[in-house]
Amino acid sequence: MPDAPSPVSVLRVALPLPLPRLFDYRAPEGAAVAPDWIGRRVRVPFGPRELVGVVADVGPGEDDARELRAIFDCLDPDPLLQGELAESLAWLSRYLHAPLGEVLSTALPAALRRGEPLPETHAWAWRLTEAGATALAGLRAGTRPRRFAELLSATRPGDGSDRAIEAPPQRDIGSHRQRDEDSLDALMDDWRGAARALARRGLAERVAVPASQLAPMPQPGPTPNAEQAEAIAAIGACQGFAPLLLDGVTGSGKTEVYLQAIARCLDAGRQALVLVPEIGLTPQALARFRARLGVPVHALHSGLAEGERSRVWAAAWRGEARVIVGTRSAVFVPLPQAGLIVVDEEHDGSYKQQDGIRYHARDFALVRGKALDVPVLLGSATPSLESLHNARAGRYAHLRLRHRAGNAQPPRVRVLDVRKRPLQAGLSAELLQAMREAVDAGGQVLVFKNRRGYAPVLLCHDCGWSAHCPRCSTPEHGSPMTVHAGGRRLQCHHCGARQPAPPACPDCASLALQPQGNGTERIEETLAQSFADVPVVRVDSASTRRKDAMERHLDTLGERPGVLVGTQMLAKGHDLPNLTLVAVVGIDEGLFSADFRAGEKLAQLLIQVSGRAGRADKPGTVWLQTHHPGHPLLQTLIQGGYHAFAEQELAQRQAAGFPPFGHLALLRAEAKQADAPMAFLHAAKRALADKQASVALHGPLPAPMARRAGMHRAQLLLAADERRPLHRLLEAGLPLVYGLPEARRVRWSLDVDPLDLY
Ligand code: ADP
Ligand code: ZN
Ligand code: ZN
Repeated sequence: MPDAPSPVSVLRVALPLPLPRLFDYRAPEGAAVAPDWIGRRVRVPFGPRELVGVVADVGPGEDDARELRAIFDCLDPDPLLQGELAESLAWLSRYLHAPLGEVLSTALPAALRRGEPLPETHAWAWRLTEAGATALAGLRAGTRPRRFAELLSATRPGDGSDRAIEAPPQRDIGSHRQRDEDSLDALMDDWRGAARALARRGLAERVAVPASQLAPMPQPGPTPNAEQAEAIAAIGACQGFAPLLLDGVTGSGKTEVYLQAIARCLDAGRQALVLVPEIGLTPQALARFRARLGVPVHALHSGLAEGERSRVWAAAWRGEARVIVGTRSAVFVPLPQAGLIVVDEEHDGSYKQQDGIRYHARDFALVRGKALDVPVLLGSATPSLESLHNARAGRYAHLRLRHRAGNAQPPRVRVLDVRKRPLQAGLSAELLQAMREAVDAGGQVLVFKNRRGYAPVLLCHDCGWSAHCPRCSTPEHGSPMTVHAGGRRLQCHHCGARQPAPPACPDCASLALQPQGNGTERIEETLAQSFADVPVVRVDSASTRRKDAMERHLDTLGERPGVLVGTQMLAKGHDLPNLTLVAVVGIDEGLFSADFRAGEKLAQLLIQVSGRAGRADKPGTVWLQTHHPGHPLLQTLIQGGYHAFAEQELAQRQAAGFPPFGHLALLRAEAKQADAPMAFLHAAKRALADKQASVALHGPLPAPMARRAGMHRAQLLLAADERRPLHRLLEAGLPLVYGLPEARRVRWSLDVDPLDLY
């Protein structure tokens, strides 16, 4: 009789596939599988492919487990995703109704997602061996090996009484003298050859040392004013999880409050995570954190090389990174010793991921803060209506900074009615005059126009033809292509399509093609003529494609008088102390948008852009140029400020049952075939109908941008007064949606708490 086969362990693996389930595999022959396999990455066969997944569960095998395929290998000696982070990500998968494997792979840096090992985070250093220390005097004077050995021996172990000869001594590890490679680079050209020569003779060796903890001495900040002190004390008094809304006008010193709260968190031996919007993480901002905190600050953003991102993640995982400042995806860093989470500019739309796993980093930060039992500080001059609503309901502590810090005064706002006035590139003579005066007084002027390119439309003056994107349209009409490069190029801002502008009208062959309206490019062109005596700098995503381009633009301008022209990229980031006039032009389209969040977004943008003026000692002025000076949004905002606006807007949202009072989920579908998205959504609606009476299903309807990049798009909106029935419905109905035959003809996605309905 053959021996009874040894029991087989089953690994339940979360794979990055759009399927809402785990996949079972057999552990390799002879491998002892214990629960500590959970959270490790494994490489597995999947059909003809090879995938990297994360073990989500282990279990004893049934008899048929022998039929399972075995994993190829296990990639981690220790669980990579465990404890709080693993639990929070599992929660996120349930909340977004998204496959766990996709959520986990979104949370991991790309290199780790692909299966690369968790990178080392230590630095390398060189030291003399005992033999090297003895042999030093015998090395021929003046040679490179001798110089290198002297550099190493210039750092003495012991009491520190010995002075470095050429450079300050480094910290000693144990009793050995050593220098890290970064400082060697600074001290000696091409030292590596000499190092290798000594190593071959056993006189020097390379050693791993913990990543340098050397950082500048912390610089003291300004003494907090009364409002700041109150906020700092309130944060300090938190025991465990507490959501706090730091609601402070622009320039009120919110960042100072963050810095003090983080310093306390570091004193308590804990890690701090700071989330900033996509365009908020400037070198200037990072430098401020580094200088003030006196610990290494790890930056995490999409501009980093893959290896660097994965190293920062690993440093956080090991608890070595004490302060992590990063954009949206930094919300996924492990925080084994968490003490505080800060979300700066919490209202910012870049916190919401708009494809794949559509998480909201601010909302997930709150979930993590709760699981980690640490305070979460949300800061903004224009809090989202969601957060204001929570603060007013008493769910968040509401900390307010009502005044600008230091000597800065709030900017004066003037509305400029331009009806019937002649305009030059969209700018009135009065505005140009005010700009001239500001520049002549030695100040800087910012012209804000939220439309990049030269002109939004190319029109035939003879027959009325205009250029449209062949691949994009709304249900009513084609989507105009934006004119770029002074009229030579056309570009679609929805799908990115580009083509040369036609030399003549394709319909009537007329040469009278005219760019209509104004974008930042044309405004820059006009201003370069009227302000030829000072620099005119344009800042938009076209002029700043390179990641540090905006900084370089602003650095070249410095504090000299000049003019900045830009889109919302200029609404935040770099501090411009000499900015005295902000001119806001062409916001009128935003006043009449159908999107339920359009008003909120416009109000936030106006306040944020205005807040750029007069941040230092010089007072600032804001000119708002509009054809609708009586529009209620503008009137409320100017007379009552952001909070008066928010009050009104919340009342309207409540009446309409929109967030934060109602809860939404949007099922989107797109396909090449025109009928497939609607067919799928109708089938989905049938699958979801009647499961929860309290959830309304609106649609399906073609999306507001019904065709984009050649794909036909449609959507089904789910709305409910309470969150719970909405989620119950999705839980019950979504498995059916996955199985629909119509689903195979479309690309579909579910967006829980959509930011907009496009
Ligand atoms: P916010 O983040 O609210 O926009 P910051 O923290 O950047 O504001 O502060 C705006 C400016 O005011 C900065 O130059 C900062 O150094 C300065 N500042 C902040 N707090 C104080 C204070 N208590 N006293 C003097 N200056 C301050
Ligand atoms: Zn024509
Ligand atoms: Zn297009």
